[in-house]
Amino acid sequence: MQSLWLVVGLAGAYDRQSLKGCPMQDTRASQKDAYDLILEAIDSHIYKPGDRLVESELADRFGVSRTPIREALQRLETQSLLTRDGRSLIVASLDHSQLSELYVVRGELEGLAAKLAARHATPEEVKVLRDMLDADQKLVGDPSALSRANRRFHKQIHLASHNRFLVKQLDLVHRSMALLATTSIAAEGRGEETLAEHAAIVSAIEAGNGDAAYQALRDHISEAFVTRLKLDAAAVEAAE
Ligand SMILES: [Zn+2]
Repeated sequence: MQSLWLVVGLAGAYDRQSLKGCPMQDTRASQKDAYDLILEAIDSHIYKPGDRLVESELADRFGVSRTPIREALQRLETQSLLTRDGRSLIVASLDHSQLSELYVVRGELEGLAAKLAARHATPEEVKVLRDMLDADQKLVGDPSALSRANRRFHKQIHLASHNRFLVKQLDLVHRSMALLATTSIAAEGRGEETLAEHAAIVSAIEAGNGDAAYQALRDHISEAFVTRLKLDAAAVEAAE
């Protein structure tokens, strides 16, 4: 009996030892890092739609070897965040229809999150949302800071929905939002409007009124979409 345990124990030690030095294990760990690093760079617009992503440049920039970079690029291509332009991989952009499709899904899912948050948010979670509203007032006039704060605010509502499947779906939607080259919050007056709309959402959640929370969030996403369409129309005009 004792010898059996010894064998099992040794086998366990051997496994751990072999895993430590196992190249597959290292690759998996750094692949996640490379994927997150590239995604973050797209999300913060270091790489914009249409920009070419070159394996060797990414490896240098992030100090990661080329194999995990290559695997991360393949994964991003599968997720349609990258696309082929001849032999190059470029950051994908959304055409007009895809943009509309994305906003329809976003409006419904965010609305659902608000509705569920109105039912399930704890008083502490509501307090966090209230504190965010106060803190974000100071960011009006700084579109990129306000855009980051906006993401934190929405993420907090997703979490307050207490529905993990919904949180996952919303993460996917927000990943695609990274493909939008500009933030609608940068439009004239949109910062103040955004915060007023956020305040209405929080009030409805705080009151436990699911329908009002759903509607307030749907309206907020709809306003953001209208702003984006106006920005895009202005960009087309400027380019002509
Ligand atoms: Zn918002």
